[in-house]
Amino acid sequence: MKKIALIGCTGSIGRQACEVVRRLKGEFCFSALVSAQNGEALSALCHEFHPAYAALYSGAEFDLPNGTKRLSGEDILRHVFDGCDIALIAAGGFAGLAYTLRAAEEGKRIALANKESLVCGGELVMDTVEKNAVDLVPIDSEHSALWQALHFDKKASFRKLILTASGGPFLHATQEQLKSVTAKDALKHPTWKMGAKITIDCATLLNKGYEVVEAKWLYGADFSQIEAVVHPESIVHSLVAFEDGALLAQMGYPTMELPIQLALTYPKRLPCERHLDVASLGALHFMPVPEEKFPCYRLAIEAGKAGGTLPTVLNGAGEEAVQAFLRGSITFPQIAETILDALSSIAREEVQSYEQLKEADARARTSARRLIYGQ
Ligand code: MG
Repeated sequence: MKKIALIGCTGSIGRQACEVVRRLKGEFCFSALVSAQNGEALSALCHEFHPAYAALYSGAEFDLPNGTKRLSGEDILRHVFDGCDIALIAAGGFAGLAYTLRAAEEGKRIALANKESLVCGGELVMDTVEKNAVDLVPIDSEHSALWQALHFDKKASFRKLILTASGGPFLHATQEQLKSVTAKDALKHPTWKMGAKITIDCATLLNKGYEVVEAKWLYGADFSQIEAVVHPESIVHSLVAFEDGALLAQMGYPTMELPIQLALTYPKRLPCERHLDVASLGALHFMPVPEEKFPCYRLAIEAGKAGGTLPTVLNGAGEEAVQAFLRGSITFPQIAETILDALSSIAREEVQSYEQLKEADARARTSARRLIYGQ
């Protein structure tokens, strides 16, 4: 039985990972469960799965069964991967990076759902991954699709990686309409069910810009080899174009069940519940990304190209801006404005350490809060 340390067990991906483990009883168990702040849900999962370790990042109290050890403070990173076979990183945002780096330092197989680990810390993470011969497996559906089309070979050669984007809820909105859309409108994703932060990032297309950067690191691609197209039906999860003109796509319903399960079971493919009925699909559409309407897409790619601390600055400002938008403190177009302001006021530095990224993250958040709340 393989042991999984699940970081971010009470979020959207974490809950679906628990569902996969329940369904594949006997194949997997949890060695550790970590949640950012949902003590009640964490406690319920601990009573169900009896992990060796559990941690609540907020530091609040929570109830534990006998046999599960509570980790807190610096002990979380120090011991959370003890004895695990797979580190499943599903924590949200910049917070996931510290776990990904630690798991890579320990040489654990990593199932990565936290894209910020590569957007912000791509250089550090990939260096550590190479040094320790870590098997880094994507859970992000687009990158899982690419990985499958590349026959699980992240070093395989290709001509182009083509990521698909649903286009989010505002694909057909005008610039004028975007000024007055609310958080409630933005949270209505047409095809995928996800957490609030990523759903807003899908609406601004910041998420797709992130995924371009993520693909660059995962597959050693040049930015010129990565393209995104809008595909509103979310059936084709991404495509790989090869030198001979062949295009291989991975298709399926828009559900995270397969990407999560495959990251755990590969190279084996075990049964999943939902199977695509091709005859009932009807037309599938593909079109260019409307970049002028969604400036966050290009901002993320440009920050990724510039590298250094800039992707972390972009992400920190973006996380603050999305929280402010969810609270109704700023408008939808102001998310991009907040990010652009942080990028233009904070200087790029070469990345030497994780601490430096942490500092860049804090600086970006302060800059964003100052712009949003005037403090
Ligand atoms: Mg994705």
